[in-house]
Amino acid sequence: MSREPLLSADDAAPYAPERVRSAPLAADEDLALRPQRMEDMVGQRAVYERLRIAVDAARIRSEPLGHILLDGPPGLGKTTFATCIPRALDVSLQIASGAALAAPKDLLPYLTNAEEGSVLFIDEIHRLPKAVEEFMYPAMEDFRVDITLGEGVNARTVNLALRPFTIIGATTRSGLLSAPLRDRFQQREHLDFYDEAELQEIIRRNARKLRMTLDQGAAERIAACSRGTPRVANNRLRWVRDYATTKANGLASRDVAEAALGMLGVDAAGLDGQDRKYLETIMRVFHGGPVGVEAVAHTLNMAIDTLTDEVEPFLLRAELVVRTPRGRRLTAKGYQHLGALPPGDEPLPLFGS
Ligand code: ADP
Repeated sequence: MSREPLLSADDAAPYAPERVRSAPLAADEDLALRPQRMEDMVGQRAVYERLRIAVDAARIRSEPLGHILLDGPPGLGKTTFATCIPRALDVSLQIASGAALAAPKDLLPYLTNAEEGSVLFIDEIHRLPKAVEEFMYPAMEDFRVDITLGEGVNARTVNLALRPFTIIGATTRSGLLSAPLRDRFQQREHLDFYDEAELQEIIRRNARKLRMTLDQGAAERIAACSRGTPRVANNRLRWVRDYATTKANGLASRDVAEAALGMLGVDAAGLDGQDRKYLETIMRVFHGGPVGVEAVAHTLNMAIDTLTDEVEPFLLRAELVVRTPRGRRLTAKGYQHLGALPPGDEPLPLFGS
């Protein structure tokens, strides 16, 4: 059975799950950069204010916080909120992943271990199998679960009381959640991309944590190239630090950041090689679309989930590509980004040429 130990809020950070997509990061450094308190989080002000009120009210009334669903693209702070909230409440935290909870028996130990008022964070909650989801409903609503003991004619169902606790679910795909599950979360919050000023603030704070000399121009350059995503900003910052250490006596100026990011293949808009390959495939192979995402994923030899969860959200938001009922279509801005002209805008051939 895959489950992680019960953690006190203070111990939680070292166990925060590091996903494959953050593999290039040194795990302990990533932890060093993750804000430890809600008030240290930058941006997401409206979400922060609402969660703050809910957390403070739960504290004042000494009641468990209502269940919370956080959704949004990867790297925007869902896990960070989920680890900061129990700290603010001074309660323990357990961390589970939807993909690892294959059957109700996998979830049961988390439910029975949940201390009064504690938080159970379920990452990738859209990946919970239906049977686990249904098993969770009474736990979320009435803090009770029905468990079947014995088998065949000897089987009997026991109704087990749980200590009141809070589930924080995180998902990159709230659309995949069933309506009954979604409705059981009292508070549902969507995390959006960060603006450049917020990313600069994160970059400046993290440069200090990494004891790095970074000038304002470099912070601006890295922020502009971070796809609106703090995790990407942290990755880029660390790369610029390595580059500056080896090539510029440790001093990260705008030019140094520019050269370091160029070496990664990151362009002025912050797109990397994979992003450009996606746009180019739609343009060249599918004549600008519309094209189904499955066809693009197959052509790129990529998992559809990776494409829809990690590559597309920023490109859609940057209006380089649009989603239509018939599939993805490159926009005029998308063509422009690739240095091409949209069909119909090509200059007419000159007479005699
Ligand atoms: P998600 O769970 O949404 O994939 P995380 O919470 O793991 O994203 O965030 C990735 C990293 O980005 C964190 O380790 C943290 O360093 C940084 N980060 C995320 N949100 C913020 C924020 N609001 N302020 C500062 N840093 C943040």
